[in-house]
Amino acid sequence: MAERVWTLRDALSWTSEYLGRKEIEQPRLSAEWLLSAATGLSRVELYAYHERPLTPEERTTLRESVKRRAVGEPLQYVTGEMPFRHVVMHVRRGVFIPRPETEILVDVALELLQGVEDPLVVDLCTGSGAVACSIAHEVQAARVIAIDLSPEAVSMASENAERLGVAERVEVLEGDLFSPLSIDLHGQVDLVVANPPYIPSSDLPDLPADVLGYEPGLALDGGPDGLDTARRIMEDSCIWLAPGAGLAMELDESRVKDAVKELSEWYQECKGIRDLSDRDRVAAGRRQRIEARATDTNGGGPS
Ligand code: GLN
Repeated sequence: MAERVWTLRDALSWTSEYLGRKEIEQPRLSAEWLLSAATGLSRVELYAYHERPLTPEERTTLRESVKRRAVGEPLQYVTGEMPFRHVVMHVRRGVFIPRPETEILVDVALELLQGVEDPLVVDLCTGSGAVACSIAHEVQAARVIAIDLSPEAVSMASENAERLGVAERVEVLEGDLFSPLSIDLHGQVDLVVANPPYIPSSDLPDLPADVLGYEPGLALDGGPDGLDTARRIMEDSCIWLAPGAGLAMELDESRVKDAVKELSEWYQECKGIRDLSDRDRVAAGRRQRIEARATDTNGGGPS
């Protein structure tokens, strides 16, 4: 029964060495996350209480999660969590893990919503619901309809909205893009935001093994040039957006310029926005305002 006492410090150094031997990227960081998840302590507390022994339950949890991480399962599926802006999203296999670069998409969304009272937002391809829940969390008056084709994503996003206390303002629906919406909402939406699947199909095999082996392909494959879903969103959004309302989509860095060009055929104030690592990331624009359309259609002649 005289099992050696295993302190947080022992667990941290053993786990990071073990993951390093298994050639897992950033083994120390992974070890900290896994140990935090197993003990409920923050990363700072792991160091502050480094002499604290692990309970037998914590050791079992840690052992199981280290096994999963050691074979390359993404850390966020193992811990079940991914921090995103001001909240922590829950994730599990079958649902795309929110990426840090998507935080920029929310910044663009907030900018497009400025000055709009009680906005109605549609978040397409919502996945875990990170964008929808963040907008609801950061814009108190916003109502968000979050849509995804995948039933796994729909149940994850609903759970996240519930847990984050925004379920009253985030409605999660299953379906292909706008298809679950009532046509009463034509011309009523104040913002369409989306992180659609955007990896060009031919680039898919080059994705890291942990992405390819574990994350849903449906959330990634953007067709031959990566813009299949984005193009459908550009075309369809015109019908649902109020005049002057914004559209923002996250895209592959190699596709943003082309997408902005295509967007300009339908929308105004179109632009590309870069992410924190200075890569093109978001394409955004606004639906034509009534005035602009009236001038366009009568060609400046007598009305
Ligand atoms: N940024 C994601 C990745 O490279 C792709 C996300 C997407 O297709 N929407 O893993």
